[in-house]
Amino acid sequence: MVSVKEKELQITEQRRLRDNLFDISSRIMGKEGAKFLFKVYDLARFDIFGKPKGAIGSIDVTNRCNLRCRHCYFYAHDYESEPELTDDEWIEKFEGLKKEGFPFYQCSWIGGEPLLRKSLIERGMRYFKSNLVTTNGTIELPFWPDVNFYISIDGPREMHDSMRGKGTYDKIVKNVNRPNLKILLSMVITRENYRGVETFVDEWRERGGVRGVLFQFYTPVKGLENDNLWPGWELRDRVIDDLIRLKGIHGDFIFLPNEVFEMMRSDRCQAITRDCLFSQVSFCFDPQGREKRPCMMGPMADCTRCGCVLPFHLKALEDKRLVLRELFMSLRKAIGRPALH
Ligand code: SF4
Ligand code: SF4
Repeated sequence: MVSVKEKELQITEQRRLRDNLFDISSRIMGKEGAKFLFKVYDLARFDIFGKPKGAIGSIDVTNRCNLRCRHCYFYAHDYESEPELTDDEWIEKFEGLKKEGFPFYQCSWIGGEPLLRKSLIERGMRYFKSNLVTTNGTIELPFWPDVNFYISIDGPREMHDSMRGKGTYDKIVKNVNRPNLKILLSMVITRENYRGVETFVDEWRERGGVRGVLFQFYTPVKGLENDNLWPGWELRDRVIDDLIRLKGIHGDFIFLPNEVFEMMRSDRCQAITRDCLFSQVSFCFDPQGREKRPCMMGPMADCTRCGCVLPFHLKALEDKRLVLRELFMSLRKAIGRPALH
């Protein structure tokens, strides 16, 4: 019987082939050029010809978190009473998926706080071509230069700390000071923090250290007594106007294209979330390794009021002109050109 370690060696061999090709390309065209080439290949495979089931998704790596944010959907589920999979059990699971032809394209490592299980992520991310870690930013970031770190922030210091606990904002400011890492900020807009959006963007544009900010809206989750965070349609539409205006000022520092914001408007969004593309193409596993449906927010999320950008971004990418534009933006980043206005 092949041991877990032997299986890991096999996957390392496969990765090595891609890595060798990458090294050769890097020598010919430079590292950033090679990264761009590989991105074009992956985009061509998945974004132009369509994402296969399981191409993107998320893994809740742990039951645990060092914070208790008021808007957290994770604690609407009673995960804590059940033991989470061990590192070896996850590797066994990935091996099983590999035999079934699982695409292993893009994985978001989430939680709980995923950086409480760094060793698992370090082993698991070798299976995927692209990895994202969504963290609360209060734990020192490991040196994983190929990973995209998304740090959750709820606005300027006071607003953030009122949601996540005193002192958490300053810990993030300290931890993002890592010039060799790819760091983005992710803000969930609620009725409580929407007034802080512009200050938040201005502050971080000036402070630097992050590649941009991603905005999403709060999605109500049944079982959590915080429906007061839901902004309501009228306010949400007004905030979308504001985001589009800010994008006119800050360009691609605000991470999503305007097409996505337009799709999130009250008169268009439900046609998209009713037939959620993310739920159709994604995989989501809970800390016990079980499939989570219909998405990482679990069955209690209110799809009719979904504020997650993923269904909208995937829908927008059905327009291949947008795929080409995103490719162009990747090229600009690869050659170190500033955000477009
Ligand atoms: S940091 Fe994330 S997982 Fe932890 S309590 Fe806050 S929202 Fe939930
Ligand atoms: S909550 Fe949003 S992302 Fe999740 S399945 Fe519903 S519409 Fe899709």
